[in-house]
Amino acid sequence: MKILRTPKELQEYRKSLSGSVGFVPTMGALHKGHLSLIEKSVARNDHTIVSIFVNPTQFLPGEDFEKYPRRYEADKKICKLAGVEALFMPEVSAIYEKDEVLLKAPHQKGYILEGHFRPGHFDGVLQVVNKLLHLTKPDRAYFGKKDAQQLYLIQKMVRELFMDVQIVPCDIVRDEDGLALSSRNVYLSPQERQRALLIPKSLKRAAKLIQSGITDTSMIKEEMLQILRPLKVEYVEIVNKDFDAISKIEIGDSIILVAAYVGQTRLIDNIWI
Ligand code: AMP
Repeated sequence: MKILRTPKELQEYRKSLSGSVGFVPTMGALHKGHLSLIEKSVARNDHTIVSIFVNPTQFLPGEDFEKYPRRYEADKKICKLAGVEALFMPEVSAIYEKDEVLLKAPHQKGYILEGHFRPGHFDGVLQVVNKLLHLTKPDRAYFGKKDAQQLYLIQKMVRELFMDVQIVPCDIVRDEDGLALSSRNVYLSPQERQRALLIPKSLKRAAKLIQSGITDTSMIKEEMLQILRPLKVEYVEIVNKDFDAISKIEIGDSIILVAAYVGQTRLIDNIWI
């Protein structure tokens, strides 16, 4: 497996490839959620490139950029075993210049939900994903449904900027206890981890209500908020696949989203109905 450190190295490597290329962008501290994306790419493409880059522009001041887990050696092993051909691990200074040309997330859909509570977050996400897609020129790029709004905005960017890449959405991978895997789960104490399980529990409850025929979203949100009461909830929202809030569930076109703090740790989760 090649370790590439600079955009130039990556561009030269990319030029040397023939056949299809799959790309999996990550911030590292890889877990089975990331691995599921990597495995999909390896199975479907002739070559797979993974990036590990803790992107400073998507963190707000006061967020966990400094303490975000960095596990470069373990990550390298995971990628190598999974059949990744090239791992792009640049320094921040290799990716950003001063006073850059900026990409802006859309006014509306980029500033609701995650974008409301983390204003500017998606500007940074789109900025870096745009750069990474230009460098890797993949046929397919793999993103998790775990970050549902991110996935939506990346699909929107790719469409609107006429980028020639297929975005492949991947299902959420959970731990045995139901908690969605996240690099941030390492911040949780054992007690906090127990409390964090209220998040998947609330989503399961919502799915059950829907199975029993309830479609009124305010009723569903109310029940979820009851379950989530011990946590500091930022939002519980139900949207369609265009991220418009909806009053009635439409099977096949609804996403139920939660963001909540467990102690100091901010977690997000969702289910697609
Ligand atoms: P991150 O390293 O958190 O930026 O995540 C990199 C990619 O992995 C993103 O597309 C995420 O949506 C995806 N991802 C993170 N956690 C999970 C999970 N539990 N299941 C599936 N995909 C995930």
